[in-house]
Amino acid sequence: MKTLGLCQVIKCKAAVAWEPNKPLVIEDVEVAPPQANEVRIKIVATGMCHTDLYILFESMKKESFPMILGHEAAGIIESVGPGVTEFQPGDKVIPLFISQCRECRFCKSPKTNQCEKGWIETQHVLKDSRFTCKGKKIEQFAGTSTFSQYTVVNQMAVAKIDPSAPLDKVCLIGCGICTGYGAAVNTAKVEPGSTCAVFGLGAVGLAAVMGCKAAGAKKIFAVDINPEKFEKAKVFGATDFVNPKDYDKPISQVLAEMTNGGVDYSLECVGNVEVMRSALESCVKGWGISVVVGWTELHDVATRPVQLIAGRTWKGSMFGGFKGKDGVPEMVKAYLGKKLLVDEFITHNMTLDQVNDAIELMKHGKCIRTVLNPFPQ
Ligand code: NAD
Ligand code: ZN
Repeated sequence: MKTLGLCQVIKCKAAVAWEPNKPLVIEDVEVAPPQANEVRIKIVATGMCHTDLYILFESMKKESFPMILGHEAAGIIESVGPGVTEFQPGDKVIPLFISQCRECRFCKSPKTNQCEKGWIETQHVLKDSRFTCKGKKIEQFAGTSTFSQYTVVNQMAVAKIDPSAPLDKVCLIGCGICTGYGAAVNTAKVEPGSTCAVFGLGAVGLAAVMGCKAAGAKKIFAVDINPEKFEKAKVFGATDFVNPKDYDKPISQVLAEMTNGGVDYSLECVGNVEVMRSALESCVKGWGISVVVGWTELHDVATRPVQLIAGRTWKGSMFGGFKGKDGVPEMVKAYLGKKLLVDEFITHNMTLDQVNDAIELMKHGKCIRTVLNPFPQ
């Protein structure tokens, strides 16, 4: 095992987002040694998620740049800082954008994964990143920054996984797969025999479809304005396919007509407040549950109060409600035991220096997931 990195700065390649709306630039960056309770990870594979695109093109938070994006990855522990007992160099891991400190009141409650300690201390490592480039501090997105050959993460935000797991596949468990699957299973708590609708068929939505199927849903409507996504949705268990562009009435009305009043569960996996409203209003009155999964902070979400008064429930879900240190290794095991599809999400494999091509593919709806390799031969 490489011990050289201990206490030394590593110089390596990373994709730096210098400013919003611009291509990422492959730069030589310095990655500082891990400090107390931190680990330095060699990133073996990283997926590209729509949230990376949201930050780059939509969020408009200029003050967060320059930064290194990427939060859906798998790698190997390269070195550990003082006080780290849970990890050793060589361990296979998945970095977590929601940590699990196991101590805060949120970690202690079985109701949520919103670790308070990690969210404050590691997710916004804005002032305290371990990256520098050309003499400048580079901010660390979501506490992970996986579009880099190496990164440093607090041990609270790392899950140790089965050493036999193929990292170039299970990296997707670090965000998209847990997010969608868990939104159906943990947050919506889909029941056997129910009817579901999933809006948006990227990796997150397809994982939600897979979760609905695993929970025993009898009908799963796959809704997307890009009909090229329907074939893939079938692979994950969708039974019916709806393109809102094919109708001249609201999609909630279309679904209500197809389901005798609305679906039991709906999941919004787009990140669009209008779609969030449609998803809620597609649910049946009385008991329908709608889960917001798509990410946006740009607009308020709205509906008429009567929609809720009539008995619908509107919920949200981050990382599928999974507590990462517990949930991620279990999801990896489920994949190794052939109980969870993962390979089927990967439509493209590229090298880290093709990161901008991967961004273009996602922008134009031409991929499900691209897995980037930071260390091509
Ligand atoms: P993606 O870009 O791969 O997929 C989005 C899909 O939505 C595309 O297939 C697109 O055609 C479809 N779509 C766009 N507009 C639509 C509309 N009006 N109606 C129906 N479908 C529409 O994205 P992804 O990586 O799967 O991520 C999906 C969303 O989930 C993003 O908003 C992302 O930021 C969010 N996300 C949330 C969490 C969380 O923890 N809550 C985690 C990861 C990602
Ligand atoms: Zn993500």
